[in-house]
Amino acid sequence: MKVARGWLAAGAICLLAAMGTWNADAQRLPGGVRPEHYALTIAPDLAKARFEGSERIDLVLEKPSNEITLNAAEIEFESVRVGDADATVTLDTAREQATLHFARPLSAGPVALQIAYRGVLNDKLRGFYLSKTKLRNYGVTQFESTDARRAFPSFDEPALKATFDVSLVIDSGDTAISNTQIVRDTSGPEAGKHTIVFATTPKMSTYLVAWLIGDFQCRAGKADGVPIRVCATPDKVELTKFALDAAKWDLKYYDKYFGIKYPLKKLDLVAIPDFEAGAMENFGCITFRETEVLVDAKLGTLNARKEVTTTVAHEMAHQWFGDLVTPQWWDNLWLNEGFATWMETKAAAQWKPKWEFEQDAAADRSGILDEDAARATRPIRQRAETPGEINELFDNIAYGKAGAVITMVEHWTGEETFRRGVQAYLGAHLYSNATAEDFWNAQTRTSGLAVDAVMRSFIEQPGAPEVRFGQRQGGEIAVSQKLFTDHTASGGTGVAHFKQTSTAPARDNERWTVPVCIKGSGCKLVAPGTTTVGTETKAPFFFANADDKGYFRSTYAKAEYAAIVANAETSLSPAERIGLLGDRWALMRADEGTVGEFLDLALALKQDSDPTVTESVTGRIQAIGTRIASDDDRERLNAVVRREFGPVYAAMGGPRRREKEDHAELRQALFEALGEARDPQVLAEAQRLTEQLFSGQKAADPNIMDAAVALTAAKGDAAMYDRLMVVVTTTKDPDFREAALRALTWFQLPPLVERTLEFAVSDNVRSQDSWLLFAWMLDRRETQEQAWKFMRDHWDEIEGKATPSSGAHLVEAAGAFCSVEKRDEVASFFAAHHVGSAERTLAKSLERIGDCAQLRAAQQPHLREWLAAHGS
Ligand SMILES: [Zn+2]
Repeated sequence: MKVARGWLAAGAICLLAAMGTWNADAQRLPGGVRPEHYALTIAPDLAKARFEGSERIDLVLEKPSNEITLNAAEIEFESVRVGDADATVTLDTAREQATLHFARPLSAGPVALQIAYRGVLNDKLRGFYLSKTKLRNYGVTQFESTDARRAFPSFDEPALKATFDVSLVIDSGDTAISNTQIVRDTSGPEAGKHTIVFATTPKMSTYLVAWLIGDFQCRAGKADGVPIRVCATPDKVELTKFALDAAKWDLKYYDKYFGIKYPLKKLDLVAIPDFEAGAMENFGCITFRETEVLVDAKLGTLNARKEVTTTVAHEMAHQWFGDLVTPQWWDNLWLNEGFATWMETKAAAQWKPKWEFEQDAAADRSGILDEDAARATRPIRQRAETPGEINELFDNIAYGKAGAVITMVEHWTGEETFRRGVQAYLGAHLYSNATAEDFWNAQTRTSGLAVDAVMRSFIEQPGAPEVRFGQRQGGEIAVSQKLFTDHTASGGTGVAHFKQTSTAPARDNERWTVPVCIKGSGCKLVAPGTTTVGTETKAPFFFANADDKGYFRSTYAKAEYAAIVANAETSLSPAERIGLLGDRWALMRADEGTVGEFLDLALALKQDSDPTVTESVTGRIQAIGTRIASDDDRERLNAVVRREFGPVYAAMGGPRRREKEDHAELRQALFEALGEARDPQVLAEAQRLTEQLFSGQKAADPNIMDAAVALTAAKGDAAMYDRLMVVVTTTKDPDFREAALRALTWFQLPPLVERTLEFAVSDNVRSQDSWLLFAWMLDRRETQEQAWKFMRDHWDEIEGKATPSSGAHLVEAAGAFCSVEKRDEVASFFAAHHVGSAERTLAKSLERIGDCAQLRAAQQPHLREWLAAHGS
């Protein structure tokens, strides 16, 4: 799965949060039963939002029993029988289980269980649910992690793989898509209906089953002999070409990479109007939020096309890694998600080498290291038993950090060796399940390196190391490591009374086995007892994180650091400069450096030609403006930004025909930064571009359009608000609509802010997007106070509209404040209004607020000092 796209707080990547507001105390099934095959017939009534189901489950009983327990939630059983023996059913709603009782014991061996039942098409975007457009209803599914049980009684655990026959009884005019190809389509069983029968699936987990019903239309293609379609509601088929091209390329790439041909006879990618996550890797039937797969192949912004590229690559990687071979249990979810996160960059960078995916990954990595430095972080592998616990695992640790660790290991072992390890792992567990140990043991065997020791130290311990490098002495350099945290030992702002942190064990003795790859000099393994590493003596400088692929913070002796900075623009790669900036930023956050030291480095890189490096600079300067500066400091900081970056922007000139994409991206980064710093020329340009948009003219550079409208909205009036609202309500392009929605949250006049807040809880905003509006407004200094008050005053409405993960997203968004008073306010509000599956998210948010207050107190004097020396 790919979680919903969040918002990026400058300098600190957002926590892409957990799913689930329910709080069931579900446990694992008792075992003793092995399901082998499900034959499902589902007859939905899309108008009345309900369905009837009948299923036969072929299973094997290990020993005689007069009871069988399986999972079921929101299911009404009509009849259960084996042969002519009827069963009675007892439901345990808290555990989401049903136990079937037979008068006489069933003998050990094969059993054919017949179940007739009814269910509801819910509006919570999980299980079998309704998605709506203005024109009609759709019946669609989302089963990961534990919601197949809402659509059919099942042994709903990833290790209990089986084959599936799905038949759908639907309205005559409708069509349906499922995991496999259609083998039969006949009219009946009653007038006005037809029955679609899909081919038997391979052996797979219940969470990967899917079916979609409506009037979807598709664009078709083919790769390596496999038919591929990208489907959407009829009005949006024109936006499917780009994703189809991506999918065709990815399929061939993965066929080769994995050395195993794509295992099904077809692949569909389907955009769903209402969709909670970003996308879901159902075997052969990938589902997407519309913004993650639909984009105008020509006019879409580069960011939108990049997003579709990585999401398609991510979900398709799962077809092998996750679907074909599946983790035994959810504690190893990271193995799925870390792998897919690593692979999405790898595949995307091969397909579009000029789009700088490696630099994006470096920037993400730095954000994740920041997040992982918090007290409330968690180890990558974590026990999770209940649906709530399982759903809280879908965070940046399982995705970004696990992906970063895999990136580091591949960089160390070498691409080809790593690939052989992946192939050995997959080959040994086809159509079956595996554990993390299976993965790293395969890598250890194929590489002959201590991959197991490295991975174990990063998978089982929370946080990341700070590796300290001393002054070079001949060919040797002293090295030591410690846990990197972004807070001082005293804690200052006192978050200790929160449960998560007070019970956490002391972590000072954490140590890692880290592959340290020295630029120009190869990789060394730094283990817990390592005190020196050998290096080239003649190199003009020593840089310990080649290609920025290592997951650690590094610090250097003063003279060594000065040599790195002096050579940064000429000798470091863009990813390495991004890493260097990230380390300097982190040291400031940890009070091991000053904001002035960061700003010195930032200005040294102001003319960088790489857009992601520039974003790493300007994004963090903006963060200094909101999180450290007073109003007065901010004015002075903005003046420095205008003075230093204005000439760089001016020198770039306007958009040119067929200019390189990284050039356009750099212009966009500078435009946004100068706009935020209230540069009068950029603001005038933004105003002009906004007028152009409203008058229907085509933009010369669509990439800066979003920022232009948002910057203009910040000073916009009611007339502009009305015009933008027309765009929001009429545009068909999902990405453009999302940009317009976001621009709505930039208005600052209180009555307009109020209108957006009212709009966010109205029926005009899909529940999948409602939380986004709040999150964006909480993230902006100018609107956060009003948004927070509205949220507290309207919590019942907001909760009523909430999807399973909205609550946790809002808890996360509330972490944008920056004072001890606010932290206490947020803590007491969510203590009184409990949000399920968001325990760790709340602890992180409260810690983030406290840390921000502490950072401001510690760094504000340094900022003033620096501004006094560098101001105009
Ligand atoms: Zn995924």
